[in-house]
Amino acid sequence: MENKLEAIVSLAKRRGFIFAGSEIYGGLAGSFDYGPLGVSLKNNIKKLWWKMFVDNQDRIFGLDAAIIMNPKVWEASGHVSGFSDPLVDCEKCHHRFRADQLDNQKTCPDCGGKLSSPSQFNMMFKTQVGAGEDAPVSFLRPETAQGIFVNFKNIIDCFHPKLPFGIAQIGKAFRNEIAPRDFVFRQREFEQMELEYFVRENDWEKYFEKWQLVMRDFAESIGIKDVYENNKEDIAHYSKKTIDFEYDFPFGRTELWGLAYRTDFDLRAHSVSSGVDLVYLDEETGDRFTPHVIEPSLGVDRTLLAILLSAYTEDDLGGEKRIYLKLPSGIAPIRAAVFPLLKNKPELVQKAREVYESLKTELGNIAWDDNGNIGKRYRRQDEIGTPSCITIDFDTLEDDTVTVRDRDTGEQRRAKIRDLKTII
Ligand code: ATP
Repeated sequence: MENKLEAIVSLAKRRGFIFAGSEIYGGLAGSFDYGPLGVSLKNNIKKLWWKMFVDNQDRIFGLDAAIIMNPKVWEASGHVSGFSDPLVDCEKCHHRFRADQLDNQKTCPDCGGKLSSPSQFNMMFKTQVGAGEDAPVSFLRPETAQGIFVNFKNIIDCFHPKLPFGIAQIGKAFRNEIAPRDFVFRQREFEQMELEYFVRENDWEKYFEKWQLVMRDFAESIGIKDVYENNKEDIAHYSKKTIDFEYDFPFGRTELWGLAYRTDFDLRAHSVSSGVDLVYLDEETGDRFTPHVIEPSLGVDRTLLAILLSAYTEDDLGGEKRIYLKLPSGIAPIRAAVFPLLKNKPELVQKAREVYESLKTELGNIAWDDNGNIGKRYRRQDEIGTPSCITIDFDTLEDDTVTVRDRDTGEQRRAKIRDLKTII
């Protein structure tokens, strides 16, 4: 489909998923605000990730570390000296580009002007901590991982886990991207779901493969088809093996998530820099050593974009063209919508309110709609990916049955009110 990204951007704004950040002031590049349906979808993605990467696993510990950390963290991790992208400027229109994204092009893609030679641009956002102009400089974290490494000893001291074990965290990360673009794909403020899994050095391949499988299962559970695994040659300084999980975005096949073997680089660097020994003591053998790390790293926003792109469908239903989101029911922002057939019949409205309230109490995320004819209500719910619509009509008042309509097929069937929870 031509311009699927534009279709998604337009749907996301029209239906309250995602708005441009600071929109009434003309926006801010690389910043977006999530509306009610976007928040709900994002929460469902995060909840499912937590279930599959934390709750359903053995010995994974949750964490919510601070966004602003002691600047020494970023010196030790290599981010102060090395977290940079090559920047080139156009001498004519002054647009800026990442040199590595220009395929050796020597002229400006926007105006054909001459490009400067590349300079390294550090992507961390600087801030000052405390009052006064000479207050110490720190940074907004560019990844959540370092919050995990600096808490390694706290987790060991509190819980005494045996290897292998992991520490997981979901949270915001900030990168002053040279060229934010492609909607929420490349933002300056975004969210990550990261797990640092600590293993014995000899076991790293086994656990790399384990998490690769969990990532594949996660892709399947959220309905992202066609994820490609690319064994990367050009990898970060801390890694010995990295696989990019790539997706066919409308702007090209590119990184959705990463899986990296980070060796013992980070724990060693923080041990040296902080003077605190970040080692693991094997209580059976008495060995003390620095564990190695496998890291599945997933961006929430890129995941959400890939989900919307995979779910976006146009078809003909009953001779009419329609747009719908074929979202898996577990992550759809609204699980079901409840309608009274007619909004001017108080007995129907009252019965429908009862069904709505009881489903809402038990399942949350249930919508109410009594606006326009039923066909229009179905279309509205289709467009936001609601799997089932429930209509209360005059028969309901007689026999406690309702019409349940399926999003994908448009098929309708009668069901008992008491069975609704199981059905949806
Ligand atoms: P890229 O090469 O696209 O800049 P990266 O390799 O720097 O990405 P990582 O450091 O591996 O990305 O970050 C882990 C994950 O965080 C990515 O796979 C992606 O899902 C997400 N992510 C990274 N940068 C951004 C961004 N600017 N906006 C949204 N999500 C991002």
